[in-house]
Amino acid sequence: MTTRRNIMMGAAAIALLGSGGAVAYRLTRDAEPPSPPGTDGQGRLLWRNWSGIQSSYPDRRFAPGSEDELVAGLKASPAPLRVVGAGHSFMPLVPTSGTLISLDRMSGVIDHDPKALTARVRAGTRLGDLGPALAAIGQEMPNLPDINKQSLGGALGTGTHGTGETLRAIHGEVLAFRLATASGEILDCSPENNPDIYAAARVGLGAFGVVTEASLQNRPLVRLHRRVELRDWRETAEDWPRLKATHRNVEFYVIPFTDKAALITADPTDKPVLPRGPETDSQVLMDLKTLRDVFGPVPALRRFVAEKMMNGMAAEDMIDEGWKLLSTDRPVRFNEMEFHLPQEQQIAALQEVVAVIESKRSDVFFPIEVRTIAPDDAWLSPFYQRQSGSIAVHAYYKDDYAFLFDLVEPILRRYGGRPHWGKLNSLGYKDFQALYPRWKDALEIRRTLDPGGRFLNPYLKKVLIDG
Ligand SMILES: Cc1cc2nc3c(=O)[nH]c(=O)nc-3n(C[C@H](O)[C@H](O)[C@H](O)COP(=O)(O)OP(=O)(O)OC[C@H]3O[C@@H](n4cnc5c(N)ncnc54)[C@H](O)[C@@H]3O)c2cc1C
Repeated sequence: MTTRRNIMMGAAAIALLGSGGAVAYRLTRDAEPPSPPGTDGQGRLLWRNWSGIQSSYPDRRFAPGSEDELVAGLKASPAPLRVVGAGHSFMPLVPTSGTLISLDRMSGVIDHDPKALTARVRAGTRLGDLGPALAAIGQEMPNLPDINKQSLGGALGTGTHGTGETLRAIHGEVLAFRLATASGEILDCSPENNPDIYAAARVGLGAFGVVTEASLQNRPLVRLHRRVELRDWRETAEDWPRLKATHRNVEFYVIPFTDKAALITADPTDKPVLPRGPETDSQVLMDLKTLRDVFGPVPALRRFVAEKMMNGMAAEDMIDEGWKLLSTDRPVRFNEMEFHLPQEQQIAALQEVVAVIESKRSDVFFPIEVRTIAPDDAWLSPFYQRQSGSIAVHAYYKDDYAFLFDLVEPILRRYGGRPHWGKLNSLGYKDFQALYPRWKDALEIRRTLDPGGRFLNPYLKKVLIDG
């Protein structure tokens, strides 16, 4: 039986055979992207996002340890005031020449209610730390993103989500939050207190103020059976309605130029723990890259070799608590575009995206991610009142990603997609206005909270201020 390890070994053999082509490819195109200097002319330190495409030289960096320290700092610091979580967004949400604020010192679970399964959590808490902290009190967040490096505040800020037909994005489980405003007030926001701010700023881009803590509606901690299996991608797409209805968490990755998809499901189980083995995704990705480097210009050959390598590959099973299984490490860097579409449009859009990539971009090797998300009622949520199907296309960090804008985005927009706030897109004020029924209401709340625009950097001014 073939395993994922076999793919790697197969690819190594192929790399040897085709090493001439791969070496030529690497010498001509496989270069590190240019890096900005570590300091600017005034000695200010460089800040960069995870993928490396966003950067700035903040005048001031500030890491408060309490709400009081935060409020004092907000009043005294130069604008734009931008909060950073883990810096994992691809859009220029964080860059500032003014003040960069980190809540890394405002982290951890404050208290919890064992009966209601709720927990109050400081916004600087990284999701990777939150998982075990919640497990210790018998709770879990059922819907985690692909990675768990994000801060809670950063995840809420962009509408970060996982996958599952009945599962909302992380902000969809926020019962209340506290917001530090530009004027130095701390506001309690919930359906009862400041309900309009609760609706407008739950997905807030750091543009309404700084979220200091959030109350989360969690679920009882359960053990999950996670399965990863390779299937024909077209059959998987056809089967998607049934798969969505059957599994708690479900997604698939179309592997371009191979006819295959990796289907990933996770469902509650009472079976004993079957621990997750060592992480192999990065190696598989690098093997797909090797296939691209060697056979990229000859897609038919690339498909043939992929078929030989992947056929008969065994499924991988693991059983453990969800916080250990739902997120993975992503050491291989990339840039990404993701749109959330009306669910009934998702597969038609996916078919077009795969077709355009396979006919025009033989350099693409990253799998295309397909997920499902339940609706919520946050005004700036991409899932606002809409059952959504998402499509995410990735480009290796060393590769050109302009095709995401030129080829992929027009398709996803034509099908009514709303972009992930943290991922690449070219939309502006008027585009968002057409996509979000409560756009103007949300922006009016923002203007009232921050009339001087102290939280706005140039990108946010462009998107959130008309004209
Ligand atoms: C490898 C990788 C995998 C990813 N996987 C997924 C995925 O599976 N699903 C998904 O939906 N997204 C995913 N993303 C995107 C990522 O979850 C979002 O971009 C998220 O916002 C990043 O969190 P962060 O803590 O790094 O926030 P940052 O990128 O640092 O900040 C994001 C926004 O939140 C604001 N913000 C941060 N903290 C606060 C606060 N306390 N109060 C107010 N505003 C705040 C910032 O100002 C900014 O506007 C992924 C990104 C990467 C790089």
